[in-house]
Amino acid sequence: MSYQNTLEYAREQDKSDPLSLYSDKFHHPIIDDKKVIYFTSNSLGLQPKTARKYVNKELDEWARWGVEGHFYAENPWVSYHEIVTPASARLVGANESEVVCMGSLTNNLHLLFVSFYQPTAKRFLIISEAKMFPSDRYLLETQVKHHGLEPDEAIIEVSPRDGEHLIREEDIIAVIEENSDQLALVFFGGINYFTGQLFDLERLTKAAHKHGAIAGFDLAHAAGNVPLELHKWNVDFAAWCSYKYLNSSAGNVAGLFVNDRHGNSTSLNRFGGWWGHNKERRFLMENTFDPMQGAEGWQISNAPVMGMAILKASLDIFDQAGIHNLRAKSIKLTGYLEYIFNQVLKKFPKVKLEIITPIDPLKRGAQLSIKLIGTDKSFFDQLTKAGVITDFRAPDVIRLAPTPLYNSFEDVYQFGLTLQNLLDKWS
Ligand SMILES: *Cc1c(COP(=O)(O)O)cnc(C)c1O
Repeated sequence: MSYQNTLEYAREQDKSDPLSLYSDKFHHPIIDDKKVIYFTSNSLGLQPKTARKYVNKELDEWARWGVEGHFYAENPWVSYHEIVTPASARLVGANESEVVCMGSLTNNLHLLFVSFYQPTAKRFLIISEAKMFPSDRYLLETQVKHHGLEPDEAIIEVSPRDGEHLIREEDIIAVIEENSDQLALVFFGGINYFTGQLFDLERLTKAAHKHGAIAGFDLAHAAGNVPLELHKWNVDFAAWCSYKYLNSSAGNVAGLFVNDRHGNSTSLNRFGGWWGHNKERRFLMENTFDPMQGAEGWQISNAPVMGMAILKASLDIFDQAGIHNLRAKSIKLTGYLEYIFNQVLKKFPKVKLEIITPIDPLKRGAQLSIKLIGTDKSFFDQLTKAGVITDFRAPDVIRLAPTPLYNSFEDVYQFGLTLQNLLDKWS
């Protein structure tokens, strides 16, 4: 792509961008009287302007109906979670029976592990990535201990090679092959939160299945960021949160995927709750747990309607924009950010900032992670002060996520100017 580092060029791109109208559908933070450049949708997405309307609707229903809203609200609360299923299934490439929105990400993963990590004396190994998101690491450690195993013997982490930042997929495959006899589960982040590396989930799933193991993924950084085809790729299970690229507010209700191959077998081990029980018989208050078929059978509690209303507001926007359109823009926008960054850095040969995210657009989503070498967190603090909201991940990485729904090419251009000003002062 032939990018240019000029305001004219950036504005030209925005003008011809069919998705540019979507930016106005979100509230953009104004800090110190200035609209900030928000590159943090990978941490917390912005608020859709429609969110308030969707929540107010349910507040009105509650005021009007009280408990009867479960049955008489326009979208009855007893089945409210079902209205976010179709769009969620489209986003992750699943049958509707394979997806349910419920709970929170790490909680959901624990529940899925109850079903999909059943270690035996012979098969107990989990293969995962080094430097995974801490919550996922704690998940693995505590699950393994729950089964009476030691993390050191049951978890194998695949690391980047010496001097490299990214994990080579052939190294993952090699570790799977080496441990195939004892392998129970391959568990990765679909996109690594730190480096932004997108893994080939179909390839990893195939490699796990070849040896009778299960393949599960944490899609916190992938859902709403890149198109997914979980069903087609034959993934066993997955879970994601809805507050990063899915813009549904901090800590809001999450999603999970269980492949129909498993979801329709109601005999699979699981932890039960009344919302996962046969919905025709739920209110008969019977004793014996009879799980529903499909992902819904993993539900525990009744749905948090207010949060789901926000999720619905957000998913409606994704449906209008289309994840494939978003991805096409995202590839261009992240590419532009990379170009601008490199253009600015060229002028400062002594400054050592390095992009550690894959250069190949197909191996990353809407994120560039920049490693600070020879500088420290104060560089990040100054960037924030200058009106660019990014995030810092210890020990030394700044993450920038230009999101196609509400970031523009001009945002990226302006970021370049800010970076240049900062480096002028630094060097
Ligand atoms: C954001 C994120 C989480 C957060 O977990 P919660 O249960 O939603 O607090 C977990 N795992 C990964 C990979 C994440 O990026």
